[in-house]
Amino acid sequence: MATFISRNLLWLALSFSIGCFTLAFQQGWNLELAVLAATVVTLITAITIERWLPYRADWNQPLDDRATDLTSAAVLIAVIDPLLKLLGPLAVVGLYGAFGWQPGESPVAQLPLVVQILLASLLIEFGRYWSHRFHHVVPALWHLHAMHHSSRRLYTINVMRFHPLNYTLNFVIGALPVMLVGFSAEALISYLAISQPVLMLQHANIDLRSGWLNYLFSSNELHRWHHSRESALANTNFGNAIVLWDQMFGTFRYEPDARWPADHVGLFANSRGYPQSAGYLRQLCVSLGCQRSALE
Ligand SMILES: [Zn+2]
Ligand SMILES: [Zn+2]
Repeated sequence: MATFISRNLLWLALSFSIGCFTLAFQQGWNLELAVLAATVVTLITAITIERWLPYRADWNQPLDDRATDLTSAAVLIAVIDPLLKLLGPLAVVGLYGAFGWQPGESPVAQLPLVVQILLASLLIEFGRYWSHRFHHVVPALWHLHAMHHSSRRLYTINVMRFHPLNYTLNFVIGALPVMLVGFSAEALISYLAISQPVLMLQHANIDLRSGWLNYLFSSNELHRWHHSRESALANTNFGNAIVLWDQMFGTFRYEPDARWPADHVGLFANSRGYPQSAGYLRQLCVSLGCQRSALE
């Protein structure tokens, strides 16, 4: 049973999410709700499985981080996400209104849905790739992104530990341009159907062995490299859910049989003054420069 889950959970989660989207599309149901339902099922499944099939048993022990991770998730889900969902379409309406266009008249909206899904997914991932890479090399952006890398263990919930500004910039550079170009809402939601199951498993403390899927999707096997304390290892696998752009730009890293030292995960040497064990508000504050010396 453990071997079956280890080898198959990623593609089962992907199939379930895409299946829910397809069924909702055919039946005329609410597509966002269908993707949300599949996301919640994958999230609960991941949290349950990591208790009895952990990649590292010690990563199931809290390190004064659970409250910070849960607070960050609550802020992003309850405040930042709804705001972006409101402001994104408003930006589209404003832009198209200024030129006297109708959003549905955009040339890309006339493309077959499958082509739109493919193009929208690649473009969003392109923006997310460069947003993430810039957050690693531009000091002011790294101060924001350090919050995500301050985790000293990887488990399902800390996929949502992001500074709100980091999260917003990811949206502005990744999804917003694709919305402005005029891709249909169905194409944008289908990207979520593909990316959400990957993200729900990306930090999961589960010993997944997803094989060839690691060459396509940013699995937890790849993302562990990204959370290394060694910057040369961490500056790899920037893709959000897909690793095509990592393959193209030479930052893809996959070593199926690699062995990790116990303290592999955490901040780089030049950022270890960052308050890794601090609460959410203090981390927010430090990322914004309240105690800049902690990061230099
Ligand atoms: Zn990163
Ligand atoms: Zn991460």
